[in-house]
Amino acid sequence: MTVTTRQQRFDVIVIGSGIGGLTVAALLSRLYRKRVLVLEQHFTAGGFTHTFERQGKFHWDVGLHYVGDMGEGSTGKAVFDYITNGNLRWHKMPDPFEKFVYPDFTFEVYSDADRFQTDLIRRFPGEQTAIRQYFKDVQKAAFWFGAHSMLELLPVWLHPLLRRIVRYFGAIARQTTQQYLDRHFQNAQLKALLASQWGDYGLPPSQSCFGIHGLIVTHYLKGGWYPVGGAKAIAQSIIPVIEQAGGAVITQRRVTEILLKSGVAVGVKAQNTAHSKADLETYLAPIVVSDAGVFNTYIKLIPPSYSLAERQKIQAFPKSSSMVTVYLGLKIVHNN
Ligand SMILES: Cc1cc2nc3c(=O)[nH]c(=O)nc-3n(C[C@H](O)[C@H](O)[C@H](O)COP(=O)(O)OP(=O)(O)OC[C@H]3O[C@@H](n4cnc5c(N)ncnc54)[C@H](O)[C@@H]3O)c2cc1C
Repeated sequence: MTVTTRQQRFDVIVIGSGIGGLTVAALLSRLYRKRVLVLEQHFTAGGFTHTFERQGKFHWDVGLHYVGDMGEGSTGKAVFDYITNGNLRWHKMPDPFEKFVYPDFTFEVYSDADRFQTDLIRRFPGEQTAIRQYFKDVQKAAFWFGAHSMLELLPVWLHPLLRRIVRYFGAIARQTTQQYLDRHFQNAQLKALLASQWGDYGLPPSQSCFGIHGLIVTHYLKGGWYPVGGAKAIAQSIIPVIEQAGGAVITQRRVTEILLKSGVAVGVKAQNTAHSKADLETYLAPIVVSDAGVFNTYIKLIPPSYSLAERQKIQAFPKSSSMVTVYLGLKIVHNN
């Protein structure tokens, strides 16, 4: 197959236009005035934040339900303000913003951590001490996740100290959510209630890491927000920031290979997904960032001829559960 090389020069290529890819692209555009090219295989940018409609009357967000940490003064809001140049507004969800519905009871969650705790204690007074401890432990677990993720980014001289901190908090965070709940609580209803948000991270308590559970729980302690204009407003407000710095977001381009020269990424090959018979295109840039996931990046996009120590480990990593989402449009039938 012929390969066409695109002449336009970019400083960075980002594979995939999910929120991860768009955030990296916008940060590089604003902080360092880099010309960033984002290549997206789908015909709409945004990854799990994109939306679609049918028949002009049914509209679906493919992923987003709510985002935490978007109040004034929060880090999340500051990051979004920066990458959208202040062009994305957030609507706070009304209280109670979350409702856990079980066959024999319902529990409403308000956007106030103290109230969440008090409401739990009122309902399960015998477990008061464990409930108070739980609210401290989810913070510790979330801190562990942050420290663990930051470890490699910080100067090497800080690593020994940080490793000790990570190990200390890891004692709480590295157990499964079920282990934590079984060790601290007696009441089965309360355990179910506290595990309710597992749908947000996709694994049941017996398989999920308490560190991730803590991260999600603390993320929503102040409530939930939704982007004004729907999830699509996220990509719509980030893309102009990338373009203003001379970058571009091109959809319908599936990256098929990361090009390497002497072990260094120098560009990508991409397929135009609108024309499967079209020539492969080559895009060159001295930096390539992938938002296509670890498996796709290391196993599918980096050629097998390039030896990678991590490849075997990644291949052996257990696959997570598959998920199918059905988007329903409901017709309301009025009797009488
Ligand atoms: C059903 C569902 C509901 C969710 N609800 C929420 C919520 O309410 N709140 C919340 O905070 N989070 C929620 N999430 C999680 C959140 O949406 C995701 O964590 C986040 O959007 C992931 O972003 P990402 O950039 O990592 O990946 P993605 O959004 O998956 O983006 C990756 C992009 O890369 C593209 N790509 C992959 N391979 C290639 C290739 N070879 N060439 C070119 N492009 C490629 C893909 O098409 C995709 O657009 C939800 C997720 C799901 C699935």
